[in-house]
Amino acid sequence: MIPDEMKLPGTPLIIGQGLAGICLAWEFLRRGVPFRIADRGVGGSTRVAAGLINPITGKNFEPSWRIADFHPQAIAFYRSLEEEFGLTLWHPLPVLRLASSEKEWAKISAKIDLPEVRPWVGATRAIPKSFLGGVELTGGGWLDTRKFVQLSADYFRELGLSAQSGKPRIRCEGAAGLIAGSMGGHRCAKGEILTVQADWPETHIRIGAGGWLVPIGGGCFRVGSTYDWDNLDEQATAAGLERITAIAAKLGGADFEVIAHVAGIRPILRRSQPLVGKDESGDWVFNGLGSKGTLYAPGMAVMLADWILDGVRPEPEFVFPDALF
Ligand SMILES: Cc1cc2nc3c(=O)[nH]c(=O)nc-3n(C[C@H](O)[C@H](O)[C@H](O)COP(=O)(O)OP(=O)(O)OC[C@H]3O[C@@H](n4cnc5c(N)ncnc54)[C@H](O)[C@@H]3O)c2cc1C
Repeated sequence: MIPDEMKLPGTPLIIGQGLAGICLAWEFLRRGVPFRIADRGVGGSTRVAAGLINPITGKNFEPSWRIADFHPQAIAFYRSLEEEFGLTLWHPLPVLRLASSEKEWAKISAKIDLPEVRPWVGATRAIPKSFLGGVELTGGGWLDTRKFVQLSADYFRELGLSAQSGKPRIRCEGAAGLIAGSMGGHRCAKGEILTVQADWPETHIRIGAGGWLVPIGGGCFRVGSTYDWDNLDEQATAAGLERITAIAAKLGGADFEVIAHVAGIRPILRRSQPLVGKDESGDWVFNGLGSKGTLYAPGMAVMLADWILDGVRPEPEFVFPDALF
């Protein structure tokens, strides 16, 4: 029930059907709030993403920002959609974080017993010979982002929710919106991914050698990724192919066949820490999911719905533009 004073001036229009817009749409549906949703139908990084969640990330082997809040919410959300539709979207898999140098391994081993890291550390596993050390992490897995987008878009269309106009507008436009300048400066980065077929173990996601390797079933793997801040187009390149081929060889082995090569643009405002708020024209915005949309989109959508519908303003660190200054 929407309190009288928070009643919306019309039927809100969600612009964008990537992770941000779709998670918000599901949240509106669950609360029984009328809305419409639009997408121009081309591009979008959600269709390209590997959908990976890795709790302890980066060169510095650090827990993802606010992981303890967002991780349970994300998994519960994807599970609830699976139950509703009777199919699998979220594929939990342990992560094998591998170190190529003594220095990298020293950094990882020094952090394994920290109180914020220890809960994510699993049983030790055999480390591939080409690495100096490795640690197994729990809580990882991958979301089938293509299936997630397709299933949701079809469902919303069948309910007659597709439209091009509505008010207030809620812009969930990903990198396209950021590049158009809707939220000021940005740090969007192009990334390329390969899908390969190979006879490699499918028990773990492997992370190391500056990339990752995600088994997606049937002897297929997604491998990535590149970061390019200068060429913000969605074209796969020969340089990207070469770079990711090297990652695949290191993480999996020399023998594989490339079956797909795609590129997309990560919507980055400040690392992978998303924001919600209002832009200069008074439209709501939800953007900046960066490289971690799978982890953050469900929780941020709940936060934005609480704000739009119930007037509950999120903590300052989630609010655009305040958190940027
Ligand atoms: C190579 C690569 C690998 C990645 N791997 C991972 C990963 O493993 N794990 C992870 O969590 N994240 C990953 N990401 C990041 C992830 O893709 C993003 O965090 C997330 O998908 C962003 O979702 P979004 O909804 O904000 O944007 P998008 O998915 O880009 O969706 C925005 C949508 O808005 C539409 N749109 C834009 N402007 C308009 C307009 N004016 N009118 C109508 N429609 C409009 C677009 O068509 C698009 O469909 C990866 C990204 C890339 C590029």
